[in-house]
Order: sequence, then C-alpha cells, then structure tokens
Amino acid sequence: MTDEQSASNAVLVVGGGISGLTAALEAAEVGNDVFIVEKEPTLGGRVSQLNQYFPKLCPPSCGLEINFRRIRDNRRIRTYTMTTVKSVSGTPGNYEVVLETMPRYVNSNCAGCGECAEACPDEVDNSFNFGMNKRKAVYLPHEMAFPRRFVVEKEALSEAGAIAIKKACKYGAIDLDMGVETRTVHVASIVWATGWEPYDANRLTNLKFGQSSSIITNMMMERLASPNGPTNGKILRPGDDKEIESIAFVQCAGSRDENHLEYCSYICCMATFKQMSYVREQYPDAKIYVYYIDLRTPGKYEKFREERMADENAFFVKGKVADILPNEDGGVTVIAENALTAEKMAQKVDMAVLATGMQPTQAIQPMAVDVPTDNNGFILTDAGKGMIAAGCAKKAADVVTCTQSSTAAALKAIQISRR
Ligand SMILES: Cc1cc2nc3c(=O)[nH]c(=O)nc-3n(C[C@H](O)[C@H](O)[C@H](O)COP(=O)(O)OP(=O)(O)OC[C@H]3O[C@@H](n4cnc5c(N)ncnc54)[C@H](O)[C@@H]3O)c2cc1C
Repeated sequence: MTDEQSASNAVLVVGGGISGLTAALEAAEVGNDVFIVEKEPTLGGRVSQLNQYFPKLCPPSCGLEINFRRIRDNRRIRTYTMTTVKSVSGTPGNYEVVLETMPRYVNSNCAGCGECAEACPDEVDNSFNFGMNKRKAVYLPHEMAFPRRFVVEKEALSEAGAIAIKKACKYGAIDLDMGVETRTVHVASIVWATGWEPYDANRLTNLKFGQSSSIITNMMMERLASPNGPTNGKILRPGDDKEIESIAFVQCAGSRDENHLEYCSYICCMATFKQMSYVREQYPDAKIYVYYIDLRTPGKYEKFREERMADENAFFVKGKVADILPNEDGGVTVIAENALTAEKMAQKVDMAVLATGMQPTQAIQPMAVDVPTDNNGFILTDAGKGMIAAGCAKKAADVVTCTQSSTAAALKAIQISRR
C-alpha cells in the first residue's frame, strides 16, 4: 500500500466524466492539488459514447479533448483509472481516503499501437457499444480513450490469447501478473461526480426490449449513429442491417413513472430531437413517429424543437405507449392511445427507440463509503463536511448544467480547503 502525502489543500474528485473533469480542472487551475478517481479504464464518462451533443451538435471530442489536454498539462492533477474509493476517515479539511486500483494488465510502456488486439484471438461483447458488436479481450475502450493505454479483460483471455498478446507487444507492456493496488491520499474535501447509468430497459416489460433486436435504447442509437460505432455511423436495424423507412421514438420509457423513475430525466426529449436529425440526415424520406407525454425542451432548446417539429415526415402522438409487438418481418408494431383524440393506434415501424432516462450510478452501484442520497439515489451535498455532489450524480441534467454545477462544487471544495 502506498501513502501519497499531498498538501492539505487537495481535492478528491470521484468520477472522471465531464462533471468530474470540470470540477478537477477548476480546482487545480486556482492552485489546489487534485486527485481524480475513475472506476473505468478511461476518463470521459457517458459523453464519450454520444455521437453528437446538443445544442451545437458537435462530436464529443470537441469538449473532451480540450479537457484531456488541460489535465495532461496540469501537474497538480493526478488521475487514477480503474480505481474506486474504499474508505474515508477524518474530518473536513483533513480526510484520509483509501483507494483501490484494479489491475489493467498493461503497464505504462504501452504505446497504444494496437498490435496486441490484432493478435488476440479472443472476443467478447463490446460494452461500449451496448453489445451491438464484439471487441477483443485486450482493447482500447474507444478511440478517444485517455489515458491512451490498452487494457486486458483477463477473464475473457484464453491461454493461447495470453501467449499471442505477449508475443505481439514489442514494448513489453503486457503484464498478466499485475495485482490489485491500494493507496492512501490525504485531502481537504471531496467532490462526488459519479454520474448516471441508463435506466434498465429490461424492466419495462410492456416495451419488449430484448425480445426483438429492432427495439433499442436511446444510448444504443447514439452508438449506432457514431462514426466509431458498430456500423461505422450508418443507422441500420440491428439483427438484419435493414435500412430505415420508419422509426418510432418512445418518450418517457420508464421516466415520470412511480414504478420506475419517478422524475423527468431532463434530456430525453432533446436527445430524441437530436436523434431525429441523425435519422433525417441519412434517410430523407423516412417516417418518424414520436410518442410522448409532454415535450420538454426548456429555454434555449425551444428553437431546436421547433425546427424538428416542422419536418413534414415527422408525426407526434401525445400518448403513452402501452405495448410494442415484435413482427415477423423484423419490425415492430407500437400500440398507443392518442390522449388528444382518444384514438387507439397501432403503428408498424422498422424499429423503435426507447428514450430511457438517467439513473444515478449511486442507486445501482453504490460506493463502498456511505454517502447521503435522496429517495432516487441522487447524492446530496454535505457542504459542512466538505463533500459536494456534482453533475448527474446530483440530478439528471445536460452537459451545460453539469459543468455549471461542477464549477460550483469546485468552489465549495476550495473554500473548505482554505478554512
Ligand atoms: C441518450 C442521451 C443523449 C444525451 N445527449 C446529450 C447531448 O446531446 N447534450 C447534452 O448536453 N447532454 C446529453 N446527454 C446527457 C449527458 O450524457 C450528461 O449530462 C453527462 O453524461 C453527465 O456527465 P457526468 O460526468 O455527470 O456523468 P457521467 O458521464 O456518467 O460520468 C460519471 C463518471 O463517473 C464514473 N464513476 C461512477 N461511479 C464511480 C465510482 N464509484 N468510482 C469512480 N468512478 C465512478 C463513471 O465511470 C463515469 O466515468 C444525453 C443523455 C442521454 C441519455
């Protein structure tokens, strides 16, 4: 176990998504030392899975890469990937935090050349693409990965695979004997930026996710439309690669529903309007059906909504979807009641996208340390204790709102460190 002493003004940021990166940079750029702890092998969080992000519809690289560069250039920031917090003891201004790092099985000699993956015979479902394609047992999580270092999923590696990847690496970077490491850091305050997970669509039994490959989630749509996704950006129906002539978006899939997520995830309507653009760009004549309870596009997003609603091949139905029936031709029939006309509707489409909401990670994979949360698992700030929640760990939000709340969290964390 290593013990990393640091100036007592250090801030621990847990979670390396856009919120954690923002809080870390804000604190470090005014002179605090910062530790970023990220459980995955790379920083960037969910934003790195998006194809484009609203409102400007730019690729995620435009926001993330600048932040990665600022982190690389800032000596005050230390990042620990594949790491979680095991315990926190002490008092505000003077915390001792034990961190646990899982083995990457690839050391810092890795040049990111990818020859190990080329040589590796073992494949597993690609979790970054929600299982819509395969990746090797040694892999770079995605092309923007930071740090740009491969990682081995040892459970998926055969004996032959182990021999092949070691032989292929001319830098001696594969180290299958690596073990779990623990280290202690001393910090003044902690920012919880552990983000969100997509709500589990398997729980929405009436919407039949998993019973037909043509029923996907909105995050799967982001990956389908991404140039670095499973179809290189071409939106094709999973299962048979059919081009899209018609598509349905099912809003509030699990959201604003006391049996699932009682709250509005804030971004799902905007995400659907954005994804309508992905479809329209590739399929000028495709019919697009959107089933909704309310369309929520607050503030500056109103114009974005208006533009997409002007599309003459887009049809908006105010009504909650009751059922989705898989069809023999590979498509689905969406069953809903139009709340304005009381008409019962059955619409055949090539595929359906479930606009599932954001559930706080803390509700699904709680940390080893006790943190206060509300009933939905969103983390509550305890500013007196120097423990501050930021971004989607605190509430469902878009990127702009997350970066604002992260800047505010950094300010609180700095204040505690200077008391
Ligand atoms: C379909 C869809 C489309 C969207 N499109 C847009 C868009 O176009 N524009 C927009 O502004 N917003 C969009 N959003 C919202 C956007 O994704 C979020 O605002 C953003 O991801 C929030 O960032 P975050 O850092 O708070 O959380 P995350 O991105 O979830 O990052 C949290 C990080 O913390 C890590 N972590 C979690 N638990 C631990 C732990 N215990 N220890 C260490 N690390 C941990 C995670 O691995 C992750 O890297 C979209 C959301 C959805 C569902």
